[in-house]
Amino acid sequence: MNNINGQTQELAEFCRRLYNRKYIAGTEGNLSLRLPDDKILITPGGFNKGFINPEDMVTCNSDGEKLEGIHQPSSEVKIHVTVYKNRKDVNALCHAHPVFATAISLAGKPLNEAILPEFVTALGVVPVVRYATPGSQELALNLLEVLEKYDAFLLEKHGSLTLGRTMMEAFNRTEILERYSKLLFYTGQVESPKLIPREEADRLLDIGGRSNLKGVIIAGENNL
Ligand SMILES: [Zn+2]
Repeated sequence: MNNINGQTQELAEFCRRLYNRKYIAGTEGNLSLRLPDDKILITPGGFNKGFINPEDMVTCNSDGEKLEGIHQPSSEVKIHVTVYKNRKDVNALCHAHPVFATAISLAGKPLNEAILPEFVTALGVVPVVRYATPGSQELALNLLEVLEKYDAFLLEKHGSLTLGRTMMEAFNRTEILERYSKLLFYTGQVESPKLIPREEADRLLDIGGRSNLKGVIIAGENNL
């Protein structure tokens, strides 16, 4: 059994918040934290995260093999391993199925247009991870194709994935992604959103520390 400590408690707390925000249902979703020596603390598979306890968490080595815990690690552990091995700036990962972000993931299109200033500064661009069977190594490889530049992803026909230096940061990014997806959905009911002009979009990317996305985001000319 895993010890009850600050990190297992933190993971359980964020699981409950994710569930209470209705970003996951049933046994969906998985969260993890990077531990010292690149071990991974991850949620178990097949658990309703709204009812999970700190002692249910699983400790794995950096390859995703179980070291401690009474349950098996999430079936998506390959994604977590891929992120921690390739993004040394990331210490927390949040995978959920929020309704609006998941609806947008069905279309398989990235969120790469400069429309809402707060979203441009917070996330810049959210790419699509090409579809592969949930839990497969192929899905982890598809993620690797776009992993380097971004902190939030749409898993095609599946859900959301956000990264952070802390779980709070990863969780915030899930909230922002879902809120933006909801806004896009409602805007689409009225009319097509207009793009922020290029100069302003570049300024927002600079403010958000995301200057590397200037060539990726799509902005308008005099469209505001
Ligand atoms: Zn999932």
